[in-house]
Amino acid sequence: MVATARVAVPVPLPQLFDYLAPARGDMPPAGSRVLVPFGPRRLVGLVLGHGEAAEPNSLNHGLKRIEQVLDAGLVDPELLELLERARRYYAFAPGESVNLLVPQALRRVKPFRLGPPDRVAITAAGRAADAGRARRQAEVLDWLQAGPMAREELLERGASAAVLRALMEKGWIASASAGAASTPQPGPELNIEQRAALARILASRHRYRAFLLAGITGSGKTEVYLQAARRLLRRGRQVLILVPEIGLTPQLIRRIEARLGLTAAVYHSDLSEGERLACWQAAASGQARVIVGTRSAVFLPLRRPGLIVVDEEHDASFKQQDGARYHGRDLAVMRAHLLGIPIVLGSATPSLESLNNAAGERYQLLSITRRAGSAAPPRWSVLDLRGQRGSLHPALLGAIERHLGEGGQALIYRNRRGYAPVLICPACGWSADCQRCDAHMTVHQSAGRLQCHHCGAASRVPPRCPDCGEPELHALGAGTERLEQQLQARFPDVPVWRVDRDSMRRRDQFGRLLTEIRRGQPCILVGTQMLAKGHHLPAVTLAAVLDVDQALFSADFRAPERLGQAVCQVAGRAGRGERPGEFILQSRQPEHPLLAELCRSDYLGFARRLLEERHAAQLPPAIALALLRAEAHDARQACAFLESAARCLPAAGLSVQGPVPAILARRGGYSRFQLWLQARERPRLLQVLPDWVEQLHGLPEARRVRWHLDMDPLEL
Ligand code: ADP
Ligand code: ZN
Ligand code: ZN
Repeated sequence: MVATARVAVPVPLPQLFDYLAPARGDMPPAGSRVLVPFGPRRLVGLVLGHGEAAEPNSLNHGLKRIEQVLDAGLVDPELLELLERARRYYAFAPGESVNLLVPQALRRVKPFRLGPPDRVAITAAGRAADAGRARRQAEVLDWLQAGPMAREELLERGASAAVLRALMEKGWIASASAGAASTPQPGPELNIEQRAALARILASRHRYRAFLLAGITGSGKTEVYLQAARRLLRRGRQVLILVPEIGLTPQLIRRIEARLGLTAAVYHSDLSEGERLACWQAAASGQARVIVGTRSAVFLPLRRPGLIVVDEEHDASFKQQDGARYHGRDLAVMRAHLLGIPIVLGSATPSLESLNNAAGERYQLLSITRRAGSAAPPRWSVLDLRGQRGSLHPALLGAIERHLGEGGQALIYRNRRGYAPVLICPACGWSADCQRCDAHMTVHQSAGRLQCHHCGAASRVPPRCPDCGEPELHALGAGTERLEQQLQARFPDVPVWRVDRDSMRRRDQFGRLLTEIRRGQPCILVGTQMLAKGHHLPAVTLAAVLDVDQALFSADFRAPERLGQAVCQVAGRAGRGERPGEFILQSRQPEHPLLAELCRSDYLGFARRLLEERHAAQLPPAIALALLRAEAHDARQACAFLESAARCLPAAGLSVQGPVPAILARRGGYSRFQLWLQARERPRLLQVLPDWVEQLHGLPEARRVRWHLDMDPLEL
């Protein structure tokens, strides 16, 4: 037998590959980045462990040597452990490990050269440093005391590239996007509930503890975790803040930086390869003190971690929906546990998963029940849409008029972009449907197109009914585009801003609009979820949710939870400033018990009731659920695979249902089916799944379908 390194390579195959030590040098330790031959190619892989293989002989001529060790021990054992647990838990292919742990720039076979940063700032260490006799270095540090400078300017003033490099290596200067210091702005004085929450977090600053910071919108949760972060930063620790989507929260980053007196290192998938690498390195070296990132940032290396925060922990975008289907929030908790540091999950509308964990005392619940400062929660009312034509109730229009007249802003939430969700022929009943999905095409009027929001298919709006020739087709219902037109026609004197993925294509557009809105002039905002996410818009006094009825009757058991979250988040946008807020809900089912509950109690009351229902119905989080999904052009093949898969599952302790069709049973031309695997105890599921998934790769039916396992699925 010979010793081998077990290497993960970025290919979608379910196994690790064995390699011999390089011709010269030792066997690299786990976490090393290596260059390996792979078939006709060379790939950058990651050593995840070591093993043994039979001596190379004529039979296993596949056993090759590592060609080169690029970085020995690049990835810390702590992260390797996190990855190993994640891999076992979510059953993803080992090759994904490389993608998760190694930034793209370091996965290239040709070395990637990181240029010096465009803007340079002095770090806290740089301020305290004594450059001694290195006169040129001292000079640069001196210039930077006044604030970050462009690299060009430094070079013009006479700093050489070598001096900048030397200062970078010492950690005295950094990219202005990582670790630059300024004077922290003092925050407001915390109220009693905030102080209690902060004290509990700080009491655990040296050990693992998960906190669920649940406080109504505008209750000052962000202030609490920023103050906790400040304490830990002062002790030289790093703080990692995970947020759902960076593009939607430009103001949050500015606020974090102002309050903490540091430039945050920002990490998300829209960055260039070089920017991502720079952030990764700054996190690893400890230069980046505060890191704000989306879910993938949970895998960033940290030198001196002190605190993890997950903001808006209920947000579904923490779950990755392809490849390694991990949940960023849940891995963050796992990571805090491995690191022995506290983690704060914050939300005004916590997920039932987290509430269940709080009920089981795995998380400590910190609740804030009042709005911070002088702001009061908005007044709620429900408008009955039955018997009304059009999608805006006259009483809602009246309320908008009133609020605008009083100098307020109105925010109208509609979870549907485009002009109208359906186009029909009034003569024969034809409707514009996607050829490849079980779904209607959405009318996009300004583009003159029909679009499928599930598969992206698009076509021109037909001039007449393709079936009977009728020239007058009807667009039914209203999406944000149509609402924008209707509201603009009704209120011609105020700006109407539409906020959705169609109107806010460029990343900076939304940020600029938010700045405009915050100037406080009367206006109407109409938009999708983008509008509901945590923004602080002090001049908004009226918020409304237009259509909740679909969610009340959805086949998805999570629909009521999502509905409650959206409703409370939208309601929470109203009245955050001086003036009191009002919230209006339109429904054709105003007496529905869920709506009644939502209006009667607060979100936590509503959520606890839903949680009881989940327990009664034996649905997550009362039990553990995994889905085995399969899709194929031919539905029979998808089902045949799932049936074989079910047959080789060890039954004890598991309940298996299916194959059942997915809620969207056909998408992009594929028929989609799934197997529900449920267990009372999560460990039971984890015990059987990894081996089972490995076995599935060998099933003959597997080759005819696309399939994957989804642990703790959010979509059905
Ligand atoms: P949340 O994160 O719960 O939505 P924020 O922390 O964003 O709440 O606070 C909402 C607003 O109230 C912010 O403008 C914040 O500066 C302010 N605020 C927070 N705490 C206090 C406090 N104790 N006193 C006065 N204002 C506060
Ligand atoms: Zn027709
Ligand atoms: Zn489609």
